[in-house]
Amino acid sequence: MPEKVEERYQLHELLRRHPADVADLLSALREEEAVELLRRLYLRRAAAAPLGEMDPEEAARLLAELNRDEAIHILSHMDPDDAADLLAELPVETVREILSRLEARKAQMLRALLAYPPNTAGGLMSPEVLALPPHLSAQEAIEEIRRRAEELETVYYAYVVDEKNRLLGVLSLRDLVLARPETPIEQIMNREVVSLPAEMDVEEVARIFDKYNYLALPVVDKENRLLGIVTVDDVMDVMREEATEDLLRVGGIPAGEDLPLDPPLLSVRRRLPWLMGLVLLNMSVASLVRHFEGIISHLAFVAALMPLIADMSGNAASQALTVAVRGMALGVVDWRDLPRILWKEIRVGLLAGLGLGLQIGLIAALLWRKPLFGVVAGVALAGTTVGACLTGAAIPFLFKRIGLDPAMMSGPVATTVGDLIGISLFLSLAALFRAQLA
Ligand code: ATP
Ligand code: MG
Repeated sequence: MPEKVEERYQLHELLRRHPADVADLLSALREEEAVELLRRLYLRRAAAAPLGEMDPEEAARLLAELNRDEAIHILSHMDPDDAADLLAELPVETVREILSRLEARKAQMLRALLAYPPNTAGGLMSPEVLALPPHLSAQEAIEEIRRRAEELETVYYAYVVDEKNRLLGVLSLRDLVLARPETPIEQIMNREVVSLPAEMDVEEVARIFDKYNYLALPVVDKENRLLGIVTVDDVMDVMREEATEDLLRVGGIPAGEDLPLDPPLLSVRRRLPWLMGLVLLNMSVASLVRHFEGIISHLAFVAALMPLIADMSGNAASQALTVAVRGMALGVVDWRDLPRILWKEIRVGLLAGLGLGLQIGLIAALLWRKPLFGVVAGVALAGTTVGACLTGAAIPFLFKRIGLDPAMMSGPVATTVGDLIGISLFLSLAALFRAQLA
């Protein structure tokens, strides 16, 4: 319905907006409206930049709705790193056809980029980097930047390479502008270059950007040959995606993307399998409780505190787990630190458990007017807290060790193990003092 689309924007006004704003509009529209808008942008040669700003998966979906000629034209005007990300989301057949019809130089560049896994420095980089020979003067280097500014990913840094394209040094635009014009750049370049190996994982790339605060970093192969450049904006995109992914996974949405206004059936499909898996996991707690049915029917008031014990074990485990998962993500701890972490969590669990045990012990004693029940509840909660802190801290490391995603699996498993510890401790103690408690 073109009329309806028309109401939501004025094309001539959109053309003046930042591509990122246009990208937002494209994402907000319904698919057929977005495709319609994309066509209009294409006719005004303004489709490439907004598509480059969109999530590659979404952009690929829209592009696939255009005809091949339109799609190829748009792709050839996108930055190569964005174009490669988008192509990576399309079916292999389509990619092959598009590449065969793109201009040879462009196609070769994209093929090279597509060879790097998307979650590596090579997958993030743009090949359009300024590489200069060492004998150039500062003046000539600036002229070279001016000549190639249009295609360069950034003009802020120039890299100096030898005849084999091996990285020798780096200069910032400021270095070049402030140098006397005739100075050879090899005299002013910085030789201690921070660079990224092409196969470096994006999380590590993000850490390096965070540490050194450059606007861009060069990517090199194993022989230190300059391959391309990663700019900080691309790294920010990755960090946001990784953070959302982790958040959704910790929250038990393994499929990633689940937006508040997505169709209900779609959300159910993403969430239900995981929930059903958790039912099975929780059956272990259920069968444990069945084992104690005798004591529960004998001392019905015991049942009142079972949810609390189970819940608190989950809470304590979540805290320890979040600290562990975050520490792993930040790279400040790994597998080898596990003994020290466990020792720390034992002490945390003991002290926190002491506080919690006193609290619930007092409440239970007063509420049920049975001091012994207060002691049982207090000891059970204290013991549970220690167990939960230990499990919460250990499980992410164990999962990582055996190759499972710690963010995804740890939460439910740690809380279930916590439940098992808490409930069995609580009910065993109750059973032990069954005569005195009755
Ligand atoms: P401005 O901060 O005003 O943009 P600048 O020259 O200070 O200009 P920065 O990005 O702060 O630019 O870089 C500081 C210095 O680090 C520059 O001299 C630059 O040559 C150097 N540099 C840039 N990239 C690297 C790198 N990858 N490894 C080592 N040094 C680098
Ligand atoms: Mg600076």
